[in-house]
Amino acid sequence: MKKIVVVGGVAGGMSFATRYRRLNESDHIIVIDKGPYVSFANCGLPYYVAGEIENRSDLLVADRDMLENRFNLDIRTNHEVIAVDSVKKEITVKNDSEISTISYDSLVLSPGAKAFIPNEVKDKPNVHTVRNIPDVDAIMEGKDIKSALVIGAGFIGLEMVESFVTRGVKVNLVELADEVLAPFDPEMAIMARNELIRNGVGVHTGTSVKELKGNKAILNDGTELDADMVIVSVGVSPETAFLEGSGIELGMRGGIVVDEAYQTSVNDIYAVGDAIIVKNQINQEDALISLASPANRQGRQLADNLSGIANANKGSIGTAIVRIFDLSFASTGLNEKQIPDAKVIHLLGKSHAGYYPESEPIHMKVLFDESTNLILGAQAIGKKGADKRIDVIATAIKAGMSIDSLQELELSYAPPFGSAKDIVNMAGYVAHNIINGITNTVQWHEVRSEMNKGSILLDVRSKEERKTVGFIKGSIGIELDSLRNNLDLLDKSKDIIVHCQSGVRSYNAERILRQNGFNVRNLDGSFALYSRILPGEVESVL
Ligand code: FAD
Repeated sequence: MKKIVVVGGVAGGMSFATRYRRLNESDHIIVIDKGPYVSFANCGLPYYVAGEIENRSDLLVADRDMLENRFNLDIRTNHEVIAVDSVKKEITVKNDSEISTISYDSLVLSPGAKAFIPNEVKDKPNVHTVRNIPDVDAIMEGKDIKSALVIGAGFIGLEMVESFVTRGVKVNLVELADEVLAPFDPEMAIMARNELIRNGVGVHTGTSVKELKGNKAILNDGTELDADMVIVSVGVSPETAFLEGSGIELGMRGGIVVDEAYQTSVNDIYAVGDAIIVKNQINQEDALISLASPANRQGRQLADNLSGIANANKGSIGTAIVRIFDLSFASTGLNEKQIPDAKVIHLLGKSHAGYYPESEPIHMKVLFDESTNLILGAQAIGKKGADKRIDVIATAIKAGMSIDSLQELELSYAPPFGSAKDIVNMAGYVAHNIINGITNTVQWHEVRSEMNKGSILLDVRSKEERKTVGFIKGSIGIELDSLRNNLDLLDKSKDIIVHCQSGVRSYNAERILRQNGFNVRNLDGSFALYSRILPGEVESVL
């Protein structure tokens, strides 16, 4: 009988322990967690604060009795591992003030990642982080607060913003970066900002909290905000301080270095979850990816490996989603900030057939490598269906599919559910056109400099649209359906950038112009995207 000791009893650790039990009936499995609970739903915590998850007990995914009875796990909560001795093969554990040691044959580490707290707000009484049930218990004690300040506009921060607004609390959000929602590129993330503002949230970007004075926060730009409660969500780092002196190799931001079988640099010690350094499967670089799906998968794969079933960690791509009020923001892979030389496609589609009631727009961005045509990442935003599209693209990335092969995907379709040409297929069609030189695109951030160099910006929407929706400063208008008869209005010696509202009509215009000898490119994302990210460049009076 082997003695397997697991440190951390939530996503990675419990996934390991239960799978290992199913494969090894007789081994002794001890699961140690410094908190009062194991196997709880950390991802559900913000929704409990919002009141959407009404019962606190629903956060306990598997209760202790069940884990002990069904899986014969020896669970030790409120036990903190404070040291690992890999020579003696034992760990030192603190329970209240009592210190003891536990020996192991194999040690599995899944200690997760802890929230980073900036010095300016450290140790202040009304400052909270959100990681576990005691954290939300403390937040719920302040039920009657009138104002909340959330620091950090990442996924958890934004979920907490929404939770407080749902509870009727006035919320301000402070983010050091220039835009909220860092995994998204600015022309996409601005939709998150707009949605927050639409719901009454005070959004303060490009600044940080200088000082907390009672229930007031003073920002670096001098702004003073009410802050009965402060939530800090500015990022996490692997919780590995207790491994100091263990001989286990740590890498970026204290992450545990493991091989493909999750073996650390020390024999018989393995690690999974948020605490490990993984390979980003897209660029093969080291990465820390704090997400539940990889943590669960890794725990399971490690159980296989320790049971004689090879199951290698192929890496992660970081697929994630967050709901911000009425909109979902889903993303996978890398963004343009990470790979500025990626080829980019913006699309505006529908959640299902536009002629069937209640379809909603989906804004999507897909990035690919022009030399290999491999998909590098995607972002999708919409009231409905963004999750499905990103899940399909994430699957395509994991399968190593090229962008043009998205044409081949046969996705379930009837009018209430999708479109015969789904927006994912459309990404494949557009990419195929780009790859084959049928269309040539220009990005929103390139337009002004191209115009300064002499390019003509041609708007092929109707006069009526230009009048009611507005138009890009310096553009000229010739409606698509009269373009063939007005080609002589355009100077063939000049480059032309053509746009419409979404990019579809302008693609047709591009084809007409190209076949008539014009040098023309289509504005990717067209007016819808351009006016969203650069509203100051839009004129509203003809
Ligand atoms: P954890 O699940 O964090 O478990 C680690 C455990 O180890 C903790 O219970 C900790 O107490 C214990 N521990 C640490 N050090 C010691 C020690 N020295 N001794 C004993 N015990 C120790 N991911 C998503 O994909 N989607 C989401 O919607 C999502 N929402 C989230 C919302 C919140 C509020 C939070 C906090 C996280 C969310 N995540 C989400 C991230 C996801 O929960 C984590 O990626 C996942 O739980 C990581 O699993 P893990 O096993 O590595 O660490």
